[in-house]
Amino acid sequence: MNRHEFQRMRHELRRRTLTVTQVQPLSPRMTRVEFAGEDLKGFVSPAFDDHIKLFFGDAMRDFTPRRFDASRGTLTIDFALHADGPAMRWVRSAKPGTQLEIGGPRGSIVVPDDFDWYLLVCDETGLPALGRKLEELRAGVPVTGLVSVASAAEEQALQTRAQWNPRWLPREVLGEDVAATLRQALGDFVRPKGEGFVWIAAESSVARAVRDEVVGKYKHPAEWVKAASYWKRGEADSHERLD
Ligand SMILES: Cc1cc2nc3c(=O)[nH]c(=O)nc-3n(C[C@H](O)[C@H](O)[C@H](O)COP(=O)(O)OP(=O)(O)OC[C@H]3O[C@@H](n4cnc5c(N)ncnc54)[C@H](O)[C@@H]3O)c2cc1C
Repeated sequence: MNRHEFQRMRHELRRRTLTVTQVQPLSPRMTRVEFAGEDLKGFVSPAFDDHIKLFFGDAMRDFTPRRFDASRGTLTIDFALHADGPAMRWVRSAKPGTQLEIGGPRGSIVVPDDFDWYLLVCDETGLPALGRKLEELRAGVPVTGLVSVASAAEEQALQTRAQWNPRWLPREVLGEDVAATLRQALGDFVRPKGEGFVWIAAESSVARAVRDEVVGKYKHPAEWVKAASYWKRGEADSHERLD
């Protein structure tokens, strides 16, 4: 395979019924739910930013498989809490024994760990994928995170062998204009030498603004940028790839 070549994979699409085994608050606005179940046999999730569909009655929403442990037969999903929606109503009442149907991932885009550095930009909804990426990266590779969070209480201690430089950007202090905050943080970011991969996941207008800045202003090669809208203000169930 060529250097930096992304690998696209398709998976068998199956619906699975899982049972909650544990619900754990990670921070005031992030709840971790662990699931188990026979149906997890054959589950695969090769890419850090894979998504699965969670079914809440007639509604379905996209979430990241934060961790899949095939040997224990468990799947972990982290829910960023916000005001309301089917996912929020479900997670607020979830307890051991609660069941949930999931589907996917339908496909994965695997980014090879052969870049010289990484820049991961997101809000809370991208934090599960970011955490997973950190766990997967090789030892010593420089990775910077620009993470918009509600407050400093949302900062997570993430495990990694990489050289992790987090910049937590609390909206409580820096204000609600997340695009402006991230633009400023991008301006402060000192690029390491070599070729980098940039990943962006946030509210639609924010993800777009950050991608435009990275590709337009900083001339980062577009093929090494992966940007997605993970939610859209005022709109339910929104997902859009921006590349
Ligand atoms: C590929 C992908 C992976 C994702 N992975 C995760 C994940 O692992 N964990 C996670 O928590 N989220 C994740 N998300 C985001 C999640 O799918 C959305 O936040 C989704 O809208 C939540 O559904 P809901 O039922 O809570 O709200 P919805 O019914 O979809 O929306 C109701 C209202 O809430 C607003 N809203 C939605 N999300 C937020 C938010 N985060 N903050 C403030 N307002 C919001 C909407 O604009 C709408 O007005 C992911 C999204 C994508 C596309």
